[in-house]
Amino acid sequence: MSTPRPEIVVMKFGGTSVEDAVAIKRTAGIVAGRHAKGLKPVVVVSAMSKVTDQLLACSAAAYAGRGDKDVAFEISARLRSRHIETAMQMTTGDRLEGVLAVIAENFDGLDELLSGISALGELTLRTSDLVVSFGERMSSVMVAAAFAELGLDAVQFDARQCIITDNTHGKAAPNEQAIEAALEKLVLPLIEAGKIPVMGGFIGSTPEGVTTTLGRGGSDYTAALVGGGLHGGAIEIWTDVNGIMTTDPRICSDALRVKTVSFEEAAELAYFGAKVLHPATILPAVQKNIPVWVLNSRNPTNEGTKIVATPAVCRSPFKAIAAKKRLTIIDIVASRMLLAHGFLKAVFDVFDKHKCAIDMVSTSEVSISVTVDSNEALPAICAELRQIADVNYEGGKALICLVGNDIRGHAGIAAQVFTAVQHVNLRMISQGASEINMSFMIDEEDVEEAVRSLHKRFFTAPDENVFDVEARAVTVG
Ligand code: ASP
Ligand code: MG
Repeated sequence: MSTPRPEIVVMKFGGTSVEDAVAIKRTAGIVAGRHAKGLKPVVVVSAMSKVTDQLLACSAAAYAGRGDKDVAFEISARLRSRHIETAMQMTTGDRLEGVLAVIAENFDGLDELLSGISALGELTLRTSDLVVSFGERMSSVMVAAAFAELGLDAVQFDARQCIITDNTHGKAAPNEQAIEAALEKLVLPLIEAGKIPVMGGFIGSTPEGVTTTLGRGGSDYTAALVGGGLHGGAIEIWTDVNGIMTTDPRICSDALRVKTVSFEEAAELAYFGAKVLHPATILPAVQKNIPVWVLNSRNPTNEGTKIVATPAVCRSPFKAIAAKKRLTIIDIVASRMLLAHGFLKAVFDVFDKHKCAIDMVSTSEVSISVTVDSNEALPAICAELRQIADVNYEGGKALICLVGNDIRGHAGIAAQVFTAVQHVNLRMISQGASEINMSFMIDEEDVEEAVRSLHKRFFTAPDENVFDVEARAVTVG
C-alpha cells in the first residue's frame, strides 16, 4: 500500500477549457495558481471542444465511402488547421516547430487511416478508437507546449503508456493495478523532478500496446484513475459550469450551486442526467477517499462543488433534482406465472443479452415495469420478452430523481414530494435501497413544470452550509 501524496492534485480540463488559445491561456493560469500554492499538478486534458465528434464523423464518412470519402478528408483538414492555428497563437520558435511536426505526423497518420477505412469498407471499434485517440493526443501536445511557453515546467506524457485497459474497444475497462504501477514508474519521477505532466484523458492501451478508449466523456475517468493511482490529495474536474447545481439552471433560473455532496449522491445525480460528471469518475476516487472538486474554468475563483465520502449534515432532505428524458417504460405482465420463481431472472436475462441498462424497476404481484433509454434494440427485446409475458412499451417518458442523503429517517418526505407535483400524472415510483433517491416517471412534456414545482418546494429556504445562497442573493437582488 502506497503512502498518500496530498500535494499531488490531478486537474482535468474538458474540451471547452482547451478549445482555443484564449481558453488554453486561462487554463495555464489556473494550473500556475495551484503550482504557486506549493501543490504538484498533474494535468489531464480532453480533446479540444467538438473534436471527438468530428473525428467520429470523419471515420463514419470514410466508411460510407465514395463521395463521403472527400467529406472525411475535409473534416480532417479542418481539424488540422484548427490545431496548427492554435499552436501558432500559443507557441514560437523551436517549440512551435516541434509541435507543428507532431501535428503533421499525426494528421498524416489519421489521413492514412481514413484511406484505409475507405478502401477496406470496414470500420471496427478498434480502428474507431485509434481514430478518436488523435483528439486527446493532439490536445495534450499543444497544451503542454503552450504551458511551457507561458513559463510552466510542463511535459506532454502519452496517457496510453499508463492507462492500461482490457481490449473492450469503445469502452475499455481499466486495470487499476497495472495503471498504478505504470504511474509510479513513469509519471511519478516527472512530478518528483518538479515537472507538470500533461496527458490526454479518455485514451488508453491494452498491455500489448493497442490503443483503446474509456468511453465518451472518459477524461473524467482518466483523472480519477490517475488521482487514485498516484494516491493524490484531490481531483479537480474543471468544466464550464459552477459545479453541481440543485437543478438544471435552464429549467429553473434560481437553481443554486451545491457546495458539497457525498460520493453516493453525486453518483446518483450523474447517473440520472446531471451531465457535469461521468459516474464512473466516482469509483477510483471513492475507493481511496480522495475528494473530487467540480470547478468552472471560466470562473476560477468560484468554489465549485466538493464531492466527499461522508455527506454534510443538511437541513433540507434533498441536494438536487435531476431529470432524464427520452426514456421508455416497458410493462411486462405475467398473469399466468404470477411472477413465479425464475421469472425475474428470465426477464433480466433478455436485457442483459442486449446489453441494455435498466434505470428503474417496479413490481406488483403480476407485473413488472422497467424503464430504459429509448434505443434501437427495443423491438427485439420486447419480441423476446413476449415469449414469456404480455409486453407493452411506451416512449416519450422522463424520470425525475430527487437525491439527498437526508431522506433517510425523514418522515413525510414522500407526501411533500407528491403534494408538490399533484397536478402531474405520475407513472412508476421508486425509492432506491440506498435511500438517497426518490424517483418517478412522468411524460416528457411535464418535466419543466414538475422540476420547477419541486425546486420551489425544497429549495426556497436552503441550508447555507450546503448551498451557495449568496449567489442567489446576487442574481435575485
Ligand atoms: N473527448 C472525449 C469525448 O468527447 C472524452 C472527454 O471529453 O471526456 O467524449
Ligand atoms: Mg466531458
